[in-house]
Amino acid sequence: MQISEVRVKMVANKDDRLKAFCSMTLDNSFVIRDIKIIEGAGGLFVAMPSRKMSDHCEKCGSKNHLRAKYCNGCGGVLPDGRARQDIKGRTKLHADIAHPINADCRRRIQDAIVAAYEAEAERAQQPGYEPLDLDIYDFEGDVD
Ligand SMILES: [Zn+2]
Repeated sequence: MQISEVRVKMVANKDDRLKAFCSMTLDNSFVIRDIKIIEGAGGLFVAMPSRKMSDHCEKCGSKNHLRAKYCNGCGGVLPDGRARQDIKGRTKLHADIAHPINADCRRRIQDAIVAAYEAEAERAQQPGYEPLDLDIYDFEGDVD
């Protein structure tokens, strides 16, 4: 698998831990969007696209986020501590949608994305810099 391209959209808020959004193209064929670059205690890290996990209300069956205190459907009080914990004992509220399944691939993705971020951060110093618009889809061929 080759990482063909990484596009980086810088996030303007300087105080935020979220530094940029990225899209990554694999083998000139497949794009993964909504990858985040986050400033952690140990430096920059790459967060793969994820979704908020949810569960269902016991009374009405409505879907609620695991941190919700009241049900979206019936307004009933939801029990605390519905989130599961990972092996390090951290509460798991999000699940990755797409992610590497081994350390080698994770490191290659991390290195490529952090390098692209650093190059973009350099460009962002130039006068007249405009952040990339990642919401434009690339699609070769006809869409009917
Ligand atoms: Zn309910």
